[in-house]
This record gives sequence, structure tokens and C-alpha cells, in this order.
Amino acid sequence: MQRTDLAELGEFGLIERIKKNTETVQPSTIVGIGDDAAVIDSGSHYTLVATDMLVEGIHFDLSYTPLKHLGYKAVAVNISDIAAMNGFPKQITVSIGLSNRFSVEAVDEIYEGIHAACKNYKVDLVGGDTASSKSGLIISVTAIGEVPKEAVTYRKGAQPNDVLCATGDLGAAYFGLQILEREKQVFMENPNMRPELKEHEYLVGRQLRPEGRTDIIHELKERNVVPTSMIDISDGLASEILHLSQHSGMGFSVFVDNLPIENSTLLAAEEFKVNPITAVVNGGEDYELLMTISQKDYEEIKGIPEITPIGFVTKEKNNILVTKSGEHVQINAQGWKHLENS
Ligand code: ADP
Ligand code: MG
Repeated sequence: MQRTDLAELGEFGLIERIKKNTETVQPSTIVGIGDDAAVIDSGSHYTLVATDMLVEGIHFDLSYTPLKHLGYKAVAVNISDIAAMNGFPKQITVSIGLSNRFSVEAVDEIYEGIHAACKNYKVDLVGGDTASSKSGLIISVTAIGEVPKEAVTYRKGAQPNDVLCATGDLGAAYFGLQILEREKQVFMENPNMRPELKEHEYLVGRQLRPEGRTDIIHELKERNVVPTSMIDISDGLASEILHLSQHSGMGFSVFVDNLPIENSTLLAAEEFKVNPITAVVNGGEDYELLMTISQKDYEEIKGIPEITPIGFVTKEKNNILVTKSGEHVQINAQGWKHLENS
């Protein structure tokens, strides 16, 4: 029997392999494995289904993650995948694996965050599962959403000359994590030290309590604009560009100078001596949307401050960053990082 290390395939390779070995038989299964959410024909509309799991020690560290925020985030990251299909979330299910280290009150706190997210995104918690875990806390959320058939947006569909747009700002969550990790180190060396988080509230908030951009989906709907392709930015801009490129069979040129980066992110980049562009391109967990908009539709959304044009689509399947000085930098797969730390 052959034995292949998981690291040889990587997360994306592994998903590809599962996808290849999976057959669908239901005519209502429009899209299965491979996009941000599955697409199911429900007659009058499409139903969307997305699942994301958060694992202690891999996706979060309980020494600096408030349980309430964790509950909120577990929901928000799934809402983000529904938004990435241009849909609206309706219901969620929540499954938790708990060790006996947890108290009833701790579980209450997680659910406070889950309920806060349900209220914010107007979704109903309709079920889940509860199990014991010997390896720390696990929270898996499934979100169910809806989208009109004519509005569903896939990772594929980008056309030459479409405008590539990003929502919100990028790179902040990466520095939020760096700050939390640094303060944890300081605290472990000297438990009398209080963490200095106040001045980095925005960045830390972006890491601990991200939002799914359902608000943007409303904005697009109001203007009758359907993106030609879309994905949410969970693994860093480079990874998402490569997904859009792979699925659409197109290339992307991204202008570094146009990337939406908050001032606090730039300041943290200086403090940590990290190029802010590197954080945007290779960081992650921004949970913003990356979409392509036809030139014609771009006129309609130009005024929305939360949407920034950052590049354009090219027929040639070549993905590049264009620096301020006009230099071209190839956008590469980050290789193998996911099963280890994302
Ligand atoms: P995202 O980052 O948007 O959550 P992922 O990279 O986790 O997307 O997943 C990509 C696609 O692969 C999705 O369609 C997801 O449902 C599917 N997928 C991921 N893991 C598995 C698995 N173990 N079995 C079947 N499908 C999977
Ligand atoms: Mg996604």
C-alpha cells in the first residue's frame, strides 16, 4: 500500500483529489465541491451551503481569544462564503467538540457570540451537533443561504477587461494576529505585564471578530449589478487571485498602489518591519470580497466607498502585481501552508 504524506498534496491538492473521486447524481446539485459554497436548485432560487471549521491551536489560541468573539467569528466566516456567491444567509447549524476542560459558562459565552452574529446577519440557528473532544475545542458551522438564479456568482466567469475590485481594507487581520502573538509572549515572560492592545484595537478586532460582507451584497443588489466572478479573501489576496484565475481561465493584473490598506495597518507594518504589501498578498483572514465587474457595471458601483478597483482581467492567464514604479512581480502559489496553520 502506497503512503503519501498530506503535505505532499497540500490542502488544495487534497480537495482536488476528493473532488475528482466524487460523483453527484442529483439533478438539483448545480455545483458541488470547489467554490465558496455548494449551489443547489430549489426551484424558484438557488440554495447555497457553506461549511467552515475552526480548530483550537490551528485557527485560534484560547489564551487571547475571547469565547464570545470566537463564536461570532465561526459564524461570520461562513456568512462570508455565502456572500462570495452573491447570496444572503438564512440559517446556520453549529457543531461543537468540547473537552471536559470547558464549563457550562464557557459554552454559554461561545453561544452569546453565535447569537450576536445570528442577530446581526438575520440568520436562524436551526441545529447542530455536540460531541466530546480530546484535542481541544472544535467549532464547525454550516451556513445555508439563498440567491436568485440569475444572480449567482462563481469563482469562474471573469472576462477580459473586467475591473477587479476588493471590498473594505486588506492586511489588518494579519497584523492583528502578530500583535496578539507578541503580547502573549510578553505576558508569558512577565505575567504582571498587561497586554497593550488598546492602541491596536482596530487590527486586533479585525483578527478576532471579522465580518462577512453581506452589506456589499445588498449594495450590489440595489444597483442591479452582478459581479462576473467572486471569492472571499480568507487566505490572502495571492491565493484568491490564483483561484479566480484557475476557475475563470483568465489572468489578473493588480496595481499595488491601489490596494486598500488602512493607516493603522501601515503603522503596524513599520513596527513589525514587514512590507505591508506582503501582509495583504500572503496574509489572510480579511474576509473581504474579491470580485470582477464588467466595465459597463463598474459605472454603477464606482461611488461605493467600500469597493476599491485594484486591477483588471487579462485574456492571457498570467497573474502579476504591478508596482508603483511599473515593475511586474509574478503572483505565485504560496505553496503548502494550509494544513499546518490556516
Ligand atoms: P473556503 O476557503 O472558501 O472555505 P475551502 O478551500 O475550504 O473554501 O474549500 C473549497 C471547496 O472544497 C469548497 O467547495 C468546500 O466545500 C470543499 N471541501 C473542502 N474540504 C472538503 C472535504 N473534506 N470534503 C469535501 N469537500 C470539501
Ligand atoms: Mg471562501
